[in-house]
Amino acid sequence: MPIVLTHLLSGIIVVGVLALAYPKKLSNPFVFVVMAGLFTLPDLDHLAFWQPSMVNKILPTSFWDLFTGMFVPRPPLLLHNWIFPAIFALAAIVAYRYRWNKWGYIAILSIAWATHLLLDGVMLF
Ligand SMILES: [Zn+2]
Repeated sequence: MPIVLTHLLSGIIVVGVLALAYPKKLSNPFVFVVMAGLFTLPDLDHLAFWQPSMVNKILPTSFWDLFTGMFVPRPPLLLHNWIFPAIFALAAIVAYRYRWNKWGYIAILSIAWATHLLLDGVMLF
């Protein structure tokens, strides 16, 4: 399980690339920060199992802490479950199909959630 800063950095990179591809859609800095922050959202379930030692999982103490636990296989748990990005992907497809102009935000939420689970090494079941 990578630290929270790793997930935030992955969000900044992915949303940054999307902002370069769609400059008019992601030109608002507030939207950019919120979208990048979505990449940390699944870690909210750690609050249910909080231990003081988990403070060290938020910010790195060395450069290599950014990569600690990345892609290490682990079973799904609460918000760390592939059902969530699947539901958001389906919702984005439906929203696009019915021409709701905010479908892209739902798609980014799905991408954010899936990227987080991929970095955490969450297995399908
Ligand atoms: Zn996580």
